Amino acid sequence: MGALKKGEFEGTVTLEPSRVPHVAALKRLFELWALDKEFHDAYRSDPAGALASTGLNVDPRAGALVLLGQLPEDGGELPETFTWYRDFFEERFARGRRNSLRMQIADPRFAGWRARQMRRCARDMPYMARFMSHLPLVFELSLGCSVGCSFCALSAGRLEGAFRHTEANAALWKDVLSCMHAAIGGAAGAALCYYATEPLDNPDYELFLKDFHNEFGEVPQTTTAAATRDLGRTRELLRWGQQTQLHFDRLSLLGKRDADAVLASFTPEELLYTDLLPQFEEAPACSLKRAGRNLGDSRAEEGTSACASGFIVNMFERSVRLVTPVVASDEHPTGELVYEKAGFSDGASLEGVVRGMIERHMSVTLTLADLLGR
Ligand code: SF4
Repeated sequence: MGALKKGEFEGTVTLEPSRVPHVAALKRLFELWALDKEFHDAYRSDPAGALASTGLNVDPRAGALVLLGQLPEDGGELPETFTWYRDFFEERFARGRRNSLRMQIADPRFAGWRARQMRRCARDMPYMARFMSHLPLVFELSLGCSVGCSFCALSAGRLEGAFRHTEANAALWKDVLSCMHAAIGGAAGAALCYYATEPLDNPDYELFLKDFHNEFGEVPQTTTAAATRDLGRTRELLRWGQQTQLHFDRLSLLGKRDADAVLASFTPEELLYTDLLPQFEEAPACSLKRAGRNLGDSRAEEGTSACASGFIVNMFERSVRLVTPVVASDEHPTGELVYEKAGFSDGASLEGVVRGMIERHMSVTLTLADLLGR
C-alpha cells in the first residue's frame, strides 16, 4: 500500500440520491432513540404509535431492526431501506479503519512507534481500540475550553485565549502546516484542529480550516459541544465542510435542550453526515469515559478519550507534546501518556522539536541501556 499524499485519504462513503431520504430518516429515528428518553420508552411499549409520532417516513420493520435488532417476524427478506442504512454505516467505519491503517508516515521510526501504540491499545482496550484513529498530528487553536463539562475526559482547563487569524498568525499557521507536512508526510492531513479545546471558542476556526484544506486537500473533522451557541454558524460550518469534502462531523449534545434545538433546527438529511453524541445523563445512550474530571465515576466506561499517537501542537501557547492513549488511571488521569512537551517559535523550530522527539522516543531498536532499564 502506498503512502497517502495530498488529498489521498479514502473519501467517506456516499449514497445514491434516491437512498438519502430513507437512510437519513432511519438515522434520525436512531438519534431519537439515543437522545430522547420519552421516545425511547414510548417505542418500547408501543412501537407503531411512537414511530407515527415522529412523522418520519420509515418502514416499521426497518425501524425495529435499527432500534432493536429484531429480524422480521415473517422470516422474509430484510427491508431494503435497512440494508442501505446498514451498508452505509458499515462502509463508513471500514473506510475509517482502512485510512487509519494505511496512514503512512514519512519517518519509519515514527511509523513503527505508532504501530506499536496501536498494538498496545488493541491489547489493553480491545473494544475501544477499534475506534481509535491514533492520529499522528492534532492542533489546538485555543488554550483551555469555555464549555467546562463536568465529565471532561481530558480535564480541559478554563479558556485562556484563542489563536486569532491575524496576518502574522495566519503566516505562522501556514508555515507550521507546511513544516509538519514535510516532517510527518501526507498522514498529517488526517489532523484535527481541536483536542482539549472547543473548536468554536476560536472565532476564526473556519479560516484555519480553509488554510488547512489548501495545504493538505483535506477538511478536518469537527466535533463541537457548542453547536447551539450560534446555530447559523454551525450550519454554515457543516455546509462548507461537507460541500468541500464529504466527511463526518460530530455535535456533542450536553442536555435535552441542546438535543431538542438541534433536532428542530436541522432536517434528517442535513445531518446525514453529522453524528449526534448523547452526552447527558438522561439520554438513553449516554456514554461517558471514566477519565479526566470523570475519573471517579464508576458507572462510566473504563478507557480513554484520547485519539492521538503523535504530536499535539497548541498554536496559542506555541507548544507541542508527544502523547499516546492509555487506560485512564490515577497515574494517567486523562488517559494519555505524555512523553515530552516543548515550545516552538515558528515552523522550522517546531519541525526541529518534532524531529528531536522522534529521535529520543521512537528508536527502532532497543539499546543495552534500554534493556538494563537505565
Ligand atoms: S469535553 Fe470538550 S467541550 Fe467539554 S470541557 Fe472538555 S474539551 Fe471542552
